[in-house]
Amino acid sequence: MSKLISGKMLSAQINKELRNEVTQLKEKGVEPCLAVILVGDDPASAVYVRNKKRTCDELGIKSVGHDLPENTTQYQLENLIHDLNNDPSVNGILNQFPLPIGLDESKIIRKISPEKDVDGLNPLNAGLIAMGQPIFISCTPYGVLQMLKRSNISTSGKNTVVLGRSNLVGRPIATLLSSKGWDSTVTVCHSRTKNLAVITSQADILIAAIGIPEFVTFDMIKEGAVVIDVGINSIEDKSKKSGTRLVGDVAFEEAQRKASLITPVPGGVGPMTIAMLMANTVNAARLQNGLPRLNI
Ligand code: NAD
Repeated sequence: MSKLISGKMLSAQINKELRNEVTQLKEKGVEPCLAVILVGDDPASAVYVRNKKRTCDELGIKSVGHDLPENTTQYQLENLIHDLNNDPSVNGILNQFPLPIGLDESKIIRKISPEKDVDGLNPLNAGLIAMGQPIFISCTPYGVLQMLKRSNISTSGKNTVVLGRSNLVGRPIATLLSSKGWDSTVTVCHSRTKNLAVITSQADILIAAIGIPEFVTFDMIKEGAVVIDVGINSIEDKSKKSGTRLVGDVAFEEAQRKASLITPVPGGVGPMTIAMLMANTVNAARLQNGLPRLNI
């Protein structure tokens, strides 16, 4: 049976370090502040935003919510971002996605000032990641790196297979793990990849980010591999009061019989993502006040 990499435990550790850092920053007169924009009434987005604001409170980071109606125009949203970009009391800007139909996410991503882009999605920050000089790493890939680092998993020279090539998750993870310092030999698989199981079963480290419930099965995993499950999928479960439960992209129970280390869902990558948003916000405040980036 494999051991668990607990995102719950690791994120608590990171949050504790950040809480101390925020206390020290406040003693220097710096109060980190995150602006959180939520457009529309998507219930899942509302839950994510609530969790992010709650974690800000726990760490002593100021959060300022901007809840906008479903019928907000592109112009209004871009205007708000323009104002937040120019507000010196705001260090980080997070616009919760997805946006309602009709609003252009990629334009919004480009509009957020790279210095306040705590989601790490602006093309400048994505480009710096590709050049091996990251400033803000998008939160989920950053969380995955922290899980590997804090679990003492060596990535150098290892065969790493990343399932998924999204700009949000798969692509930055693959770029980062192949960069100097991480030094993995990375293969990226996607919806058009042929003979997927042959490729995944050679992975020393397998990272699944595709959004298909329990897609990765026993036969797709190399004996002793490290398995990181980024997926969060809601499936029907009549035994639950809610009628649903969360599963990852990996069939956890069978994978656990083959992997050496594995992340659970929930309690894996999810809590790490929020912790790394907090880390990026603290770093934004540090950089904007002439202090060096924290080496988390
Ligand atoms: P996405 O839909 O943008 O991308 C999915 C990727 O999977 C695509 O690149 C696609 O080519 C690939 N794919 C689809 N079917 C495939 C197949 N059969 N074989 C191989 N590759 C295939 O999704 P995303 O935003 O990257 O998110 C992926 C998953 O991660 C989702 O379950 C999402 O909910 C979850 N997620 C979790 C967190 C977190 O904090 N834990 C954060 C972001 C996303």
